Amino acid sequence: MIIQKFGGTSVEDAAALERVAAIVARAAGEAPLVVVSAMGDTTDRLVEALAAAARGEQEAARRTLARLEDDTLATVREFFGRGGDAVASLVKPEFSELGRMADAVAVLRSVPAAGRDHFLAQGERISAAVVSEALRARGLPAEHLDAREVMATDDHFGRARPDVPRICRLIGERLRSGGAAPAIRVTEGFIGRAPGGQTTTLGRGGSDYSAALLAAALEASAVEIWTDVSGMMTADPRVVPQARVIPAISFEEASELAYFGARVLHPLTLAPAVEKGIPVRIRNSREPEEPGTEVRTSAPPGPSRVRSIAFKKGIATVDMHTSRMLMEAGFLKTLFEVFARHETPVDMVSTSEVSVSVTVDDVSRLSDIRRDLEALAEVEMGQDRAIVCLVGQDLKFAPGLAARIFRAVEQINILMISQGASRRNVSFVVEEKDVEEAVRALHREFFERNPPLSF
Ligand code: ADP
Ligand code: ASP
Ligand code: MG
Repeated sequence: MIIQKFGGTSVEDAAALERVAAIVARAAGEAPLVVVSAMGDTTDRLVEALAAAARGEQEAARRTLARLEDDTLATVREFFGRGGDAVASLVKPEFSELGRMADAVAVLRSVPAAGRDHFLAQGERISAAVVSEALRARGLPAEHLDAREVMATDDHFGRARPDVPRICRLIGERLRSGGAAPAIRVTEGFIGRAPGGQTTTLGRGGSDYSAALLAAALEASAVEIWTDVSGMMTADPRVVPQARVIPAISFEEASELAYFGARVLHPLTLAPAVEKGIPVRIRNSREPEEPGTEVRTSAPPGPSRVRSIAFKKGIATVDMHTSRMLMEAGFLKTLFEVFARHETPVDMVSTSEVSVSVTVDDVSRLSDIRRDLEALAEVEMGQDRAIVCLVGQDLKFAPGLAARIFRAVEQINILMISQGASRRNVSFVVEEKDVEEAVRALHREFFERNPPLSF
């Protein structure tokens, strides 16, 4: 059995649905479990509608939803032609529910966390219904499986954590109880169900994670992540047009890239796959003949020891100064406890005699964090920063590497550096406005020289 996950752009319109049907048809012999994201930018538009509703702007929320419904129904009509009415009647009640929820939020002017997840989950619900009908319309024995029946999570809304043993049991039971069931199931990525029965979500971009969790639970032979680029590349092609596809990459390198911002893969995706040794392949649904990138236990080095360059915007830096660091063993722990209490992970850390600087990616609790830290130290925060991260096997041991990196970005103000925590990455912080230039300069240095330099 294989898992085929299709991201938003891979199901965005009628032509995309046609490509999905062709890709799934070719895998029909391997009993694919198809995991889908919401169509196109549906989730962004749902977020926008909900934000308007929460401001009390009921009309604006309704308008955003109406446009989304029109676009979705236009895709349905184009793909299904005369069979479109039956599919539209599956989709319309879901939009009615969204409308009612938006109205309630506009009255309350606040969104309960569980309500937010329920609202956003509708994007995947609609997509899974449309995709399973699309496959059937092209003669494939497909059936919609409600992910909430199998994707058991905790009730950490917005970033729910999977209950892996329960998922294994539920998916096993569900697939066995099918009898002479169809060979192809289509389910929602991104969503799950809390112990209390409410709908949860796994965090933005979480459909990749769903796919990997289901693959591990089913001991699938492979996971295919179908997206809009031909694999993991040497940099984000939206920033570096010269970026090239990486044919094979190790799990460790790919996880560091995902963690440091390579959106093509959700950072949590690989853990369940690694545990079971299930290969993950990233492929382009617009170019299905291309081999894509294989993520596997180990991968031979490429022409440059740097495998890829990632970046993450919207980072904040927090600098803490206090002479108590000199005096008190364990004082760092006290500082870090503040971040833990506010459930805010710290990414990079660098310390000196009387100060410590960290970066955080989730800036939603920064003012609470500042308040608590100010009782312990002098605090300075910087917003609109970005992390640049070079990833490659054994980068730590490459002589001359740091010199090459910092020569390449010598025009750019570097705010913080981290090397050596992992043998596979070197990262540094810059102002957000400089990040794209930094990534392009590094790409030129490590990938665009002819012949490429190795060291
Ligand atoms: P999907 O909707 O299929 O999940 P995403 O938009 O989440 O797709 O991820 C694909 C995008 O990831 C690409 O369009 C590309 O701009 C971006 N990306 C960032 N870093 C990389 C990288 N190193 N390699 C490939 N794509 C990358
Ligand atoms: N639709 C969700 C999002 O946009 C999940 C995903 O696409 O992976 O974040
Ligand atoms: Mg994605």
